[in-house]
Amino acid sequence: MNERLRAWIEVDLGALVRNGAAMGARAGVPILPMVKADGYGLGAVAVARALDRLSPWGYGVATVEEGVELRAAGIDRPMLVFTPILEADIADTRDARLTPVLGSGAMIAAWAAATGNADWHLAIDTGMARSGVQWDEIGPLRDVLRAAPPAGACTHFHSADRDDDTDTQQLRRFASALDALPARPPILHAENSAAIERLERPSAWTFVRPGVFLYGVASRVAPAGGPRQRPVLVSEPVVSLHARIAELRTIGAGETVSYGGTHTARAPARIATVPVGYGDGYRRAFGNVGAALVRRHRVPVVGMVTMDMTLLDVTGIACEIGDIVTLLGRAAATVPVTEPTTVPPEPRPVVDLVGAARDAGLSPYEVLTGLRVRLPRVYVDDAHWVDSRP
Ligand SMILES: *Cc1c(COP(=O)(O)O)cnc(C)c1O
Repeated sequence: MNERLRAWIEVDLGALVRNGAAMGARAGVPILPMVKADGYGLGAVAVARALDRLSPWGYGVATVEEGVELRAAGIDRPMLVFTPILEADIADTRDARLTPVLGSGAMIAAWAAATGNADWHLAIDTGMARSGVQWDEIGPLRDVLRAAPPAGACTHFHSADRDDDTDTQQLRRFASALDALPARPPILHAENSAAIERLERPSAWTFVRPGVFLYGVASRVAPAGGPRQRPVLVSEPVVSLHARIAELRTIGAGETVSYGGTHTARAPARIATVPVGYGDGYRRAFGNVGAALVRRHRVPVVGMVTMDMTLLDVTGIACEIGDIVTLLGRAAATVPVTEPTTVPPEPRPVVDLVGAARDAGLSPYEVLTGLRVRLPRVYVDDAHWVDSRP
């Protein structure tokens, strides 16, 4: 570890790949990892290179620029662009051999005219009301679709992490839209992470589109069905936010901490300053709510998180300036694993990202994708630990 790093994100590529394998095993079909938003903030190129070990069907990005970045890094598999492109993007999309996901007649016609109908997928809106042709409005598009048939079609669930039946309704709408097409496209896809977690049998579609689960966030659907419910899938933590203690001070009883004086020491307290704040993506909402690991002890974040510094109450803990503190994820590894082994690495205490986000009233998606400003990323790969579970 670079002694000079003030604060950094550690990305465990081994855990990422195991999470991807778990998604594929549950789905029973290939995966198309979603690596949009720079791989949910972890670095799209590193993430895609690591996941390539799983021979994914392709990758999913949001924007043309994201796809171009991956192509430039030598990622050669099919690459779907899910956010609707504009006419001005067509040339770059085609030149980078990206596959746009389209949902308007005008755009489909423009793409087909400009590219000789190069591969594209039809987005079908079955209730998300965000992008795609509405499921019951295929009729007016039939002529365009007959002239320029899509290579694939897809839909997206809006509440796959909930135990309601909206996914069943969306699938019914998807099926009726597919029936209304002039021809059924050979490639079909629908499930995101939460929908894959819920699968009771192999996916009915060509591939699945896991995102957040790969990066350590499971939706943990409470078992709703009967005894035949499959076990809940656990996503291994992938991302950790570490920083070093930069200063230590003792404050007296009655003294307050940080902006606004929102925390008051009831007794003399030892306060550690860690040089990471909301300017690094460690969100303000963690003030007086979050926790950190210091020498394997869990300690509270006290006072407001500031732009560049966060304060911890480390009273009673023998820590020093320079010690590594973990604000999210797994405590830093102490013993590197170098030999292939089936023995899991020593369990390390965790600040669970999902729980921390929930306690702070944040979405884990936002916390992940926000951890990108000013923080260097350190990639570790404990792939030497081979998960030998069946
Ligand atoms: C982001 C996204 C996904 C992945 O969603 P997760 O909830 O992160 O698994 C899948 N499909 C589409 C169209 C998306 O935009």
